[in-house]
Amino acid sequence: MGKKELFGTILNPTKNGSVELIKNGFVEFDEKTGKILKVGKTNSKTVKSTENVFIIPGMVDLHSHIPQLPGVGKNADELLPWLKNHIFPLEVRFSQLDYAEKVSRFFFKEALRFGTTTIVAYASVHKEATDVAFEVAKEIGIRAFIGKVMMDRDMKRYPEELPLMSRNIKDSIDLAKKWHNSNQGRLQYIFTPRFAASCTMKLLEKTAKVAKEGGFYIQTHLAENQSEVKFIKSLFERERHRVPTNTHIFKKSDILGEKTLLAHCLYLSPPELQLIKESGSKIIHCPTSNIFLQSGFMPYRRYETYEIPIGLGTDVAGGYTLSMFNCMRDAIETSKIVNLLNDNRPYPILQPTEVFWVSTLGGAKILQLDEKIGSIEENKDADLVVIKAKPSFSFYCNMDDANSILQNFIYLPTTYNIEKVFIAGKEIDLNYEQN
Ligand SMILES: [Zn+2]
Repeated sequence: MGKKELFGTILNPTKNGSVELIKNGFVEFDEKTGKILKVGKTNSKTVKSTENVFIIPGMVDLHSHIPQLPGVGKNADELLPWLKNHIFPLEVRFSQLDYAEKVSRFFFKEALRFGTTTIVAYASVHKEATDVAFEVAKEIGIRAFIGKVMMDRDMKRYPEELPLMSRNIKDSIDLAKKWHNSNQGRLQYIFTPRFAASCTMKLLEKTAKVAKEGGFYIQTHLAENQSEVKFIKSLFERERHRVPTNTHIFKKSDILGEKTLLAHCLYLSPPELQLIKESGSKIIHCPTSNIFLQSGFMPYRRYETYEIPIGLGTDVAGGYTLSMFNCMRDAIETSKIVNLLNDNRPYPILQPTEVFWVSTLGGAKILQLDEKIGSIEENKDADLVVIKAKPSFSFYCNMDDANSILQNFIYLPTTYNIEKVFIAGKEIDLNYEQN
């Protein structure tokens, strides 16, 4: 254990939202403290050519589901029937803890193999399985926000008796007490009311109270699919909650707030966007999932005009991969589709450097971890990804331009390998296949 140096071309997100390119760069870090000591350009002639080696900060995935990984690619249905036919039966299997352990390991290792070092994830409704997921995350060393899924509504779709409101709260508090800020702060508990369709107003209210008193993050889904939006609206109307929109359900229950992550957010009216902005809540864009489940296309640029922070999430298994580069690609492509659907093509399309920034320093900022991770800077934790390019990588790539290099990472995944991943200066074992 001592000082370690990595050499290569560094792609480093900066505070002003751009990506700095450092050719012949080096990163020096302390393996013991896990902190970055120095980063810069090397003038040493002793360093062999490292032109085909790239160093980036570990990426941040802000939305995904651990028990759903074995369900990727289960196609053809929209959100609600998909949940019923494919996803709920899979999640129920998490009551078997050896199975939960295996899937959790697969999930975290898979994320790491794609260069994700921080992930925000839903477990299942089971307290014990959520505990197992934390245990596995701790052993592997990944940074993760994990929450037990809270559901207290009989959706007549979850083929298992659901815990009562009080049980949901108690189980979540127990898990939070055990795991929050554990493993040197790498693990955090996140309160996880699944979505308004599966939560009563009482559960939402109580969750908001407990989470905010304890300073915890909250994650949920909002306005993902048009049928879901209608279903939730009619559900709460039947219970005589006077709310003009689904966002008002979260406003009324006090779920909205600075530490609230709202996944999807496809169908929001201007007053809803205003509410989200005023509350300080964050929108998590899940473009791969939005296409896979035929949910729709989030108008990223339009939401930007509200100055609402937007992050990116893979949303496995609505998304079919834990690759953040794939997620970035779908974010860019979605921005083109949004333009195509508008006659006057009003918005510039998203750029590789932008989506890369959102997936690194931007994601860290949303989690209030930008003093610690998200870019390669002195005194930050050494969460680093080493990428080795194959000869084909440079065919049409301008190696002096960050946007051009990132285009390759995003669009040409066969031209490079993610070779090494470090979290707080410790190299992570990326193997997971067990006999
Ligand atoms: Zn989701």
